[in-house]
Amino acid sequence: MSRFLSKRFAAMDVYVPGEQPADMEYIKLNTNESPYPPPPGVIASVTEDELKKLRLYPNPDGSELLKRIADFYSVGQDNVIIGNGSDELLAFAFLAFCDKNRGVVFPDITYGFYPVYAELYGIPYKQIPLRSDFTIDPADYQGVLGNVVIANPNAPTGMALPLRDIEEIARSNPDFIVLIDEAYVDFGTDSAIPLINKFDNLLVIQTYSKSRSMAGARLAFSIGPAPLIEDLKKMKYSFNPYNVNRLSQLAGLAALDDEEYYIEKRLEIVETCEYTTLRLRELGFNVADSKANFIFASLPGIGGFDVYSALKEKGILVRHWNKPRISDYLRISIGTREQMDALLQAVKDFLINSEYVIFK
Ligand code: PMP
Repeated sequence: MSRFLSKRFAAMDVYVPGEQPADMEYIKLNTNESPYPPPPGVIASVTEDELKKLRLYPNPDGSELLKRIADFYSVGQDNVIIGNGSDELLAFAFLAFCDKNRGVVFPDITYGFYPVYAELYGIPYKQIPLRSDFTIDPADYQGVLGNVVIANPNAPTGMALPLRDIEEIARSNPDFIVLIDEAYVDFGTDSAIPLINKFDNLLVIQTYSKSRSMAGARLAFSIGPAPLIEDLKKMKYSFNPYNVNRLSQLAGLAALDDEEYYIEKRLEIVETCEYTTLRLRELGFNVADSKANFIFASLPGIGGFDVYSALKEKGILVRHWNKPRISDYLRISIGTREQMDALLQAVKDFLINSEYVIFK
């Protein structure tokens, strides 16, 4: 830290992205990326001609992409804004709707960026504990007198709320925003997008990073009532008008033409998720049923860090947090069947070496 950094950031905890060690080739199951490439249409969209056009700024609104997203989700164009990943749209939303007098609430165990944005902007925040089984109690979010942010399904638990609970939360907080972060919704949860016509305070964010195999493109969108989208645009045009680059806009457009490919790949991921869950349970792990492209698992009697370290030594990266309530857990992204078999074998080797008794 330099002596010039503003005092207000001196003690700030930053977000720590999943590691990308370069010392060897790892099986990377630590950032919930898709193991599958984008479909051929996306790859073909980045032509030499388009690369030459990189001398030009992109369309600031991403008008063509915006129109396609609006059609795809049956909403108006004024109900959509695109962003440089959902992280950026979350940043815009925190900036637009929260301040020192309008705080924000979210679960104690959820996406680690929410408290970071709150601290960055000096927004008071309250973390509501998940139940002991890591589910969200929707009653905890009724009339909370603050903006509400919920990842649905939640991360890193993979557990989802039904739409009627989201509806109740939106209804009981009419003077605050209810932001639903649907980064993992495509793996089997109902989206709250159809509710945006019913509630003027409901905002949804989705991303191309997970179910559309495009984490590297940094592309996401928010869908909500037109006045809320206008507010987000105000932030964007005061911060970075050209926030989504030309190639990502093109790729995002092409991706929407190949939904069949994505449906097939999502199905494979869901099947591999079920397979991995069953196999890990057979090995003695506690694994909750997941609605996402990752699982949250713990091995009774063995610390999460020990399993994480043993897997890393074998070339497999998973995510571990040294945080209250979840330090015994690992979040494991779902890769291909072969990658998950390698993970299962590495777990078995670890269990045999540590003389852990396999009961089943
Ligand atoms: N929300 C949740 C719940 C996430 O897990 C992630 C992935 N780290 C994001 C948002 C950010 O995704 P992206 O910025 O890649 O769209």
